Order: sequence, then structure tokens, then C-alpha cells
Amino acid sequence: MPTINAYAAQDATSPLAPYQIERRELRPNDVQLKILYSGVCHSDIHQARSEWGPSLYPMVPGHEIVGRVTAVGGEVTGFRVGDLAGVGVLVDSCQHCYNCAQGLEQYCENGHTTTYNSREKGTGKLTFGGYSTSIVVRQEFVLRVPPSLDLKAVAPLLCAGITMYSPLRHWKIGQGHRVAIVGLGGLGHMGIKLAAAMGSELTLLTTSQGKADDALRLGAHHVIISSDPGAMKAARTSFDFVLSTVPTAHDLNPYLQTLKLGGQLVIVGAIDPVGVHGGALISHRRSVSGSNIGGLGETQAMLDFCAEHGVVADIELIEMQDINAAYDRMVRNDVKYRFVIDMASLKGEQAAGPPSL
Ligand code: NAP
Ligand code: ZN
Repeated sequence: MPTINAYAAQDATSPLAPYQIERRELRPNDVQLKILYSGVCHSDIHQARSEWGPSLYPMVPGHEIVGRVTAVGGEVTGFRVGDLAGVGVLVDSCQHCYNCAQGLEQYCENGHTTTYNSREKGTGKLTFGGYSTSIVVRQEFVLRVPPSLDLKAVAPLLCAGITMYSPLRHWKIGQGHRVAIVGLGGLGHMGIKLAAAMGSELTLLTTSQGKADDALRLGAHHVIISSDPGAMKAARTSFDFVLSTVPTAHDLNPYLQTLKLGGQLVIVGAIDPVGVHGGALISHRRSVSGSNIGGLGETQAMLDFCAEHGVVADIELIEMQDINAAYDRMVRNDVKYRFVIDMASLKGEQAAGPPSL
């Protein structure tokens, strides 16, 4: 089995460090990519640090992958050697349940397989993500990357982009809707770019005064400082749709109150929000929902939409060796607006440790 260089977390508290992993031999339906760029999602930090319940170690995070096809199995029809391609959060699902049949593999009734922190169907081996030099994925879970876009800025579309695009499409957001995005981070800045391209009137709700100018440049029409109770009170019953990317536990009520009659608050970040006030829902027939990334077909549609509208992420390119500092900066809310790892930096790394799958 081919052994390659990667960066891994060995447990919830150690920094990520060089590590060697094995990638499976190509199956007839597999595509092998040389990884060029890998985005750094806040979910990587949550999982590397076991913040979402027990994680599987060793863990090679990374689910915003752009690369070039270096080999294909004998039954692959959708990709050829030399093609640009992407891999997001999912690498497998049952492909036959009701949800998979609808193109909703992220809600597979039999359990999808994620790019890392998961186990391969059949073998039970750990999956390893994009902080590595190559990956092997069945072709149904490989995306076509439009060559017209800046490749390093495309990587974040594979998670941040689709996680914003899917709820905007599901709730049919467009012209005539008043939309608020909560949090200007990796997801939030993609939410603003995408919702702006879809024609909605956009407000950023942010804790960071210093991000107001950026928000307007990215496509927002208004900015509200969410930590200012007066400003939040003034924004009551303003929005049709509020899409929240806040990554940590927080009180939902101030955001709920900003919804108009029949408005929808969609959470993609915090898994432990608090304080949904029944009165706030009942008085204005408001709803609270969650949303998980997007299906494969929808992810391809999102990439094609981004190519059509010239939408990519605002990124800071880093080397693999900078990853622990990058995590610390993300937690301190100090990134504009997505770190992307230049995977060429991992080539000569002296990888340590035998694979222990
Ligand atoms: P990020 O880049 O760190 O951005 C999060 C933003 O939230 C920050 O920039 C900040 O924006 C705001 N924020 C941070 N702490 C806050 C607090 N205590 N109260 C209010 N706002 C706060 O993170 P990300 O990569 O965009 O990910 C956001 C969340 O979505 C993470 O929890 C991630 O795991 C999750 N996620 C979910 C899915 C899904 O499918 N559901 C997919 C990917 C990621 P301001 O400075 O503007 O306030
Ligand atoms: Zn992600």
C-alpha cells in the first residue's frame, strides 16, 4: 500500500505533527488525487480537539481539498489523469437509501463516511483527510473543479461554500429577501458572497467592529454589531432568514428576535446553542433549523455557480508546518477569512511513526 506524508493529531491535546499514512490501492471505481491545496475549517479544530464527542485518532484533518487526478481505476468514467478535482466532507454513503437517492448523501440513513474521523465502509479502517499529499476516493464523491477559478481560493468552497449554499437554496433565498449572516469567518464570508450573488438584501451580524468594512466590500449592505443590545433591539423583526455560523454555545434569543413573521433561523455551527424562547417562536411563527453541508450534486452545482459568478474565498495561504499556529489564530478569531495549506510544503517533510490503523 502506498505510504504518504501527512500531518496528524495523535490525541485531543497534542499539536498536529508529521505522520505517515497509507492510502488504499486503487479500486476500479476510485480516483487518486495529488493534493494541491487544503482549506482549514473550524470543524477540523473541533474534531482534532475532540470537542464533538470522542474523536478517532490518529486524525489527519482536512475536508476542503483541491488537487489533480494522478490515476483512475478501470471503471472510472467521470475523470481522467490530469483533471482538476475536489473532495469535500464526504467520501462515501450507502447510495441506495431514500436520502441518498435524492442526492442528499449528507443525510444518508445508513450513515455516510466523512473524509476523516470516520471509518471506511467494508474495511473499518480510519479515513484520513486533506492534510496529506494524496487521497483516493470513489468517483461519486469527487467533484469537478472549474479551471477558470483561482485554485487555492476554491478549496474552501468544498466545505464553507457548500455549507452556506445549501440552506440558501433549500429556503429559496434570492431577490426580495432580507437575509442576515451571523459571524464573518470562513463560512460567514462565503455566505455573504453567495447570498449577494443570489440577489438578497444582506446584513452581517458580527461581534467584530473591525470587520464592518470587509463585510461591505464582500457584498453585505448593512452591518450590525451583535454584542450591542441597542443595535440588536433596533433590528427586531427585520429578517426573513438568518444563517448562523457561530461556532460555540450562545444564546439564540437575540438572533430569533430579529426574524420577521414566519422567519427562519438556520444554525450550521454551534451544536449546543441555548435559550430558544417559545414565546419568541410563537409570537411570530418563527422556526429554528439546522443544516449539514450539501449533497454531491448540489456541491457540483455550487462550484458551477461560483465559476459563473466569479466567487471564491478570501484566503491566507500557509505552509503545513504553520498549522498549529493557524488553529490558535482561528480560535482567537484572527483569520481573513480562510487559511489554505499549500500542500507543496509537505513534500520534503520527514514523516514520523508507522501507520497504526
Ligand atoms: P470561523 O472561521 O472560526 O468563523 C466563525 C465566526 O463566528 C467568527 O469569525 C466570528 O465572527 C463568529 N464568532 C466566533 N465566536 C463567536 C461567539 N462566541 N459569538 C458570536 N459569534 C462568534 O469558523 P468556520 O470555519 O466559519 O465555522 C463556523 C462553524 O460552523 C464551526 O462550528 C464549524 O464546525 C461549523 N461548520 C458546520 C458545517 C455544517 O455542515 N453544518 C460545515 C462546516 C463548518 P465575527 O467576528 O464576525 O463575530
Ligand atoms: Zn468544514
